[in-house]
Amino acid sequence: MEIALNSGFKMPVIGLGVWRMEGKDIKDLLFNAIKIGYRHFDCAADYKNEAEVGEALAEAFQTGLVKREDLFITTKLWNSDHGHVVEACKDSLKELQLDYLDLYLVHFPIATRHTGVGATASALGDDDVLDIDTTIPLETTWHAMEDLVSMGLVRSIGISNYDVFLTRDCLAYAKVKPAVNQIETHPYFQRDSLVKFCQKHGICVTAHTPLGGAVANTEWFGSVSCLDDPVLKGLAEKYKKTVAQIVLRWGIQRNTVVIPKSSKLERLEENFHVFNFELAKEDMDLIKTMDRKYRTNQPAKFWGMDLYA
Ligand code: NAP
Repeated sequence: MEIALNSGFKMPVIGLGVWRMEGKDIKDLLFNAIKIGYRHFDCAADYKNEAEVGEALAEAFQTGLVKREDLFITTKLWNSDHGHVVEACKDSLKELQLDYLDLYLVHFPIATRHTGVGATASALGDDDVLDIDTTIPLETTWHAMEDLVSMGLVRSIGISNYDVFLTRDCLAYAKVKPAVNQIETHPYFQRDSLVKFCQKHGICVTAHTPLGGAVANTEWFGSVSCLDDPVLKGLAEKYKKTVAQIVLRWGIQRNTVVIPKSSKLERLEENFHVFNFELAKEDMDLIKTMDRKYRTNQPAKFWGMDLYA
């Protein structure tokens, strides 16, 4: 299943996120994912595994496992490269061994101290707080993103972690509208206003952290995911599905694209098999009541400041 983007291209509604995937596992995981049916991969320069993803993709194309034109590959501009958009994009293309990206996203609406193209550091200042660059407006970053489209390096461009205020502002200055806003959203963090605003203005919402980060975000940030929620467990029993499948299906039924990450083969399969059932309206409404406005991805832990303050 695909969703039409305002750029005229289509994006598969389920993708595989590759954050926190170990380089040594990537080839195996990507090959298996492609065999299962995944055609959409969500990468980022900051995940520091673009080179391994690129090697796997090159081999997948060479061996005829899949064709380039059948895949949808996203990667992201890191905060420290806002002043170097074209070089950063070319660096990602080189690492990924691709000649175009399907989607390039501004990873966060904040520029930080440049540390070298593709180095993707989050440098702290003397005060142990993220060293934020206050000289580069997001509008300048966006116009450089637009240049990538005219240069033929990128098919669609988008934003990530933008709230309603910043998304509205981007729409006002954009000559090429953002095709996607990739944001954290799951049953404990539903963000209905932001989702509705984006969808009303033709911006596709991609749900990152669609499972609430599960064990990974508990380990990294001490946050709690929705996968242990008793109401969701009840729905899983009712539909004879797993909680993860209920949560992903809910994401798809609210017209968001979901990009769960797993490094386990059986979970790659489980997360992909969400097209053979439908949640009834009463169950969509029940999940709606579960919102806790609870963010599980909390990079503030490493940055010495809460960017969402
Ligand atoms: P997630 O997909 O919500 O959760 C991943 C965690 O869930 C891992 O611990 C994984 O463990 C576990 N898991 C996967 N499938 C499961 C299942 N069926 N049952 C139980 N546990 C399961 O969170 P995420 O990895 O943070 O986010 C997904 C993707 O979104 C990332 O890979 C990245 O591409 C993107 N992302 C983007 C941003 C941004 O700022 N734009 C931020 C965060 C994430 P195993 O690997 O052991 O299965």
